[in-house]
Amino acid sequence: MATRAARTATSEDTWSADELAEVRKRLLHEIEELNADITRAEAELAAGDASEGAGDDPADAGAKTYEREREIALTLNARDLLAQNERAIARVDAGTYGECESCHKPIGKERLQAFPRATLCVACKQREERR
Ligand SMILES: [Zn+2]
Repeated sequence: MATRAARTATSEDTWSADELAEVRKRLLHEIEELNADITRAEAELAAGDASEGAGDDPADAGAKTYEREREIALTLNARDLLAQNERAIARVDAGTYGECESCHKPIGKERLQAFPRATLCVACKQREERR
């Protein structure tokens, strides 16, 4: 590592240890919040199961189904975000954070500060969305 101290990469895309620690902390904090969300949604779903069959009103049952589906969708979304955050932390630890997974160019600090779990640069992301 010391032999690379003189490298010329002083661009804004270079991450310092402090900045990486900061982004890692942010990701961990989000993981905690997402875990709390998932736990809460699952508790609500479990509570819904317990009260099922209590009301015979079809409209009421429909509303409950809708509510239930919404909770499930939220949970899935939270789990997806959780996985992305965990992946980002793994990338911090592996030293590949900030590198585009597709073209291996720097993603750009500005973009990562807005979307810390981004794994693709803007160009690759746009290409993927067009598919
Ligand atoms: Zn890219």
